[in-house]
Amino acid sequence: MESLKFITAGQPICNGTAGYENAFKILEELKLDGMELEFVHGVRMNPANKELVKRIAAEKKMVLTAHGPYYINLNSKEEDKIAASITRVLDTARIGKELGAYSVTYHAAFYMGMPADEVYKKIVHSMEEICKTLDEEGNNIWIRPETTGKPTQWGNLEEIVKLSKDFKQVLPCVDFSHLHARTNGKYNTYDEFCAIFEHIGKELGDVALNNFHAHIAGIEYGEKGEKKHLMLEESDMNYKDLLKAFKKFDVKGAVVCESPIMERDAILLKEYYESL
Ligand SMILES: [Zn+2]
Repeated sequence: MESLKFITAGQPICNGTAGYENAFKILEELKLDGMELEFVHGVRMNPANKELVKRIAAEKKMVLTAHGPYYINLNSKEEDKIAASITRVLDTARIGKELGAYSVTYHAAFYMGMPADEVYKKIVHSMEEICKTLDEEGNNIWIRPETTGKPTQWGNLEEIVKLSKDFKQVLPCVDFSHLHARTNGKYNTYDEFCAIFEHIGKELGDVALNNFHAHIAGIEYGEKGEKKHLMLEESDMNYKDLLKAFKKFDVKGAVVCESPIMERDAILLKEYYESL
């Protein structure tokens, strides 16, 4: 991507139920760059909306990303649930490709009390099937497991980066608020943010920093990780130093703001970034 884009997690809140056409109009007025399509409760969109989203996003040069369903667990103890999870990732990638999205993300798995290396092997097994299927379908969209917000969920930074190294079509979706929450307060200083970009650049190369996908929000957390999203200014999320690190490493791609006042916080992020 040619620069860093700031987008909302779903349609702007102030759009209410006015629909996609108006949502893009609002994004344009607010000088935001696009939206993440939220398929968190299922990969569904009616044909009219598909046509509309695809056309308007292309016309207005809006960036689209897609978030897969929450009900994904590539480490389920039940085979049929793994198969259903694979289908959900594939369906998110398919609709993403159809609508012209840049990248899709999802929460890959839970540890289910198993050792991390065993979980990793199981996820690799599923990812092989996902990448093979997408390859056969000619779908080259970025597939991104997200860094997760709870220590019971698979997906710390190292795991996500390792999986990205093992699969050509996979890159990280770095949810900085999740990293901060799952570690009960770490990952919140300029040096820690720089270390994340350094690690990704070193392990995955410039392609990962030039095609980034990030989530940022204020977040409430405790020993068990994330509790809920907060407005940036009402949280301890050090977004200013985070954006300084983005700038320092000249990271390009999509930053999705997931705060409860997402369009306002997306503007806050974008304006601060542009002031640097
Ligand atoms: Zn997510």
